[in-house]
Amino acid sequence: MKDIRDYSLLAHNTFGTDAKCKRFLEYSSVEEAQQIVAGLTAADQPLLILGGGSNLLLTGDYEGTVIHSAIKGIEVLDNETLAAGGENLKNPDFVFLNCGSGEVFDDVVAYAVEHGYHGAENLSIIPGEVGASAVQNIGAYGVEAKDIIYKVETVEIATGKVVVFDNQDCQYSYRQSRFKHEWKDKYLVTHVIYRLSKHFVPDLDYGNIRTSLTAKGIENPTAQQLRDVIIEIRNAKLPDPKVQGNAGSFFMNPIVEKAKYEELAAQYPGMPHYTIDAGHEKIPAGWMIEQCGWKGKSLGRAGVHDKQALVLVNRGGATGQEIVNLCETIRKDVKQKFGIDIHPEVNVK
Ligand SMILES: Cc1cc2nc3c(=O)[nH]c(=O)nc-3n(C[C@H](O)[C@H](O)[C@H](O)COP(=O)(O)OP(=O)(O)OC[C@H]3O[C@@H](n4cnc5c(N)ncnc54)[C@H](O)[C@@H]3O)c2cc1C
Repeated sequence: MKDIRDYSLLAHNTFGTDAKCKRFLEYSSVEEAQQIVAGLTAADQPLLILGGGSNLLLTGDYEGTVIHSAIKGIEVLDNETLAAGGENLKNPDFVFLNCGSGEVFDDVVAYAVEHGYHGAENLSIIPGEVGASAVQNIGAYGVEAKDIIYKVETVEIATGKVVVFDNQDCQYSYRQSRFKHEWKDKYLVTHVIYRLSKHFVPDLDYGNIRTSLTAKGIENPTAQQLRDVIIEIRNAKLPDPKVQGNAGSFFMNPIVEKAKYEELAAQYPGMPHYTIDAGHEKIPAGWMIEQCGWKGKSLGRAGVHDKQALVLVNRGGATGQEIVNLCETIRKDVKQKFGIDIHPEVNVK
């Protein structure tokens, strides 16, 4: 267990902002997580549960306690203890992988691909840790974490009890879960059990996966070829946080009333949109930011990525406040031009 005062969070946020927290606690087992929650006092508030910090913007020092999981391990479950009331873990079609919440999520994807366990290929190289995958319901190329999550094991902060949730309990939807709402800051995730298939049924009809494979002369890819092409596509369009600090998509795509969409569509023919239901349309925030002229531009040391306007970047040495200033300026411009409020997807602390 780690318990460190005045700890630098520089290595714990992908924006690369240099901020400290008053106390940093790290657990490497379920027992240590229980020990940590039992020892918390009023002086530790507010709490920040941190994974890899790839969906986080720290605006300054954190005047509270950060709790991080360092639970490692990727284990194939072949006994039936965790299956009580659930599935038979010896199911010939599936494999159940019990992963420590502090594992890097992409290491789990790499392990699964290597061992012939399928369903996670399209989630290749999404930054972050296993614990957050279950909180954020991460997704890419038509696949979401909820499609492979079987159970989420946690320690309840108020009681120290181990509580195991089924996939259904977590009420997953697009990038959402109960962990982001009524369960926010109430549980430390300790393990996630993923349910993967022993059969490879690739999902290629999303984004430019198929065209990229065709360009390489591949019609029926192996799981490794699919993973490789996804890594290649993502690397070509998203900045590597190790090279240029960022937290992926900075803003959520707003959902607007149909009437508002129709008013804008008349003004901007060809405006991209996705129908949500009969009365609502989703408009890509990146497109609006680009229309406002922000793509590739900077404000001080904070900038907008030149290949994807939804991504804000640290051009080198930017403070969290500089990134917030850029965020607020963009929000104002989008509101002025389109009459739409856009909001950060990233956790701003
Ligand atoms: C370049 C780049 C590309 C990205 N692409 C995608 C993408 O394609 N799809 C996508 O969905 N996301 C994407 N993201 C966002 C990010 O990868 C995800 O949100 C990821 O799940 C964050 O993981 P993390 O471990 O860094 O979590 P953090 O940012 O540290 O935390 C995220 C949330 O999870 C909670 N949490 C973390 N660990 C635990 C735990 N052990 N117990 C309880 N709560 C916990 C935190 O409190 C917080 O609410 C991208 C980010 C970057 C930088």
